[in-house]
Amino acid sequence: MQHIVIAVDGPAASGKSSVSREIARRLGYLYVNTGAMYRAVTWLVLHSELDPSDASSVEQLLANSELECGVRDGASCFRVNGSDPGDALVSAEVTAAVSKVASQPSVRRRLVSLQRLYANQQPSVMEGRDIGSAVFPETPHKFYIDASAEVRAARRAGQGLQDSVTQRDAMDSSRRDSPLTIPEGADVIDSSHMNVQEVVSEILTRLALKGIRPVL
Ligand code: C5P
Repeated sequence: MQHIVIAVDGPAASGKSSVSREIARRLGYLYVNTGAMYRAVTWLVLHSELDPSDASSVEQLLANSELECGVRDGASCFRVNGSDPGDALVSAEVTAAVSKVASQPSVRRRLVSLQRLYANQQPSVMEGRDIGSAVFPETPHKFYIDASAEVRAARRAGQGLQDSVTQRDAMDSSRRDSPLTIPEGADVIDSSHMNVQEVVSEILTRLALKGIRPVL
């Protein structure tokens, strides 16, 4: 049986993660961070000293690797060959290489099938780049959170993280397989001048109109 999926897509540093995590908490749903899955595979590729653009080596590596999805404290978690990469997921090296790895169809196929399994378990708020357009195009609950490039770069710098957000967005939007796009039927929210709580309230208000109400 497939449960309710609330799809939250948008460019890098648009605030999707903080907003999705809080919405999931308020609704009592599972929070699924699909970007972390692409980052974990990228970590494995770099750890194996492979070229992130070498599609056949990456495909072969994945074919011989164990990817395990789980749940911890109401959120998705992910292990590759028995390891949780932890803070390495947001390292500058992984961030710089992730869009190359994520552009490869073999990687997307494998991760999308794991993402769909979460929806068999419990209602979820799932964030990423292609959740409303490719992973769950049939969900009636789709949001696209945007913010200006300046605001997004400033948010990352404020977190002390090195991240060329515009470069990543350009690669994510121009790849052939399920590029970043505004999904058909998505509610677009420009968060440039909104804080996390304001975006959360806006989304919860729209969901309440469709009968989905917070438990907290
Ligand atoms: O969300 P986050 O910035 O952690 O995502 C890291 C990268 O993973 C993105 O820049 C994109 O290349 C890839 N990604 C993707 N599809 C998703 C989620 C993330 O291609 N659903």
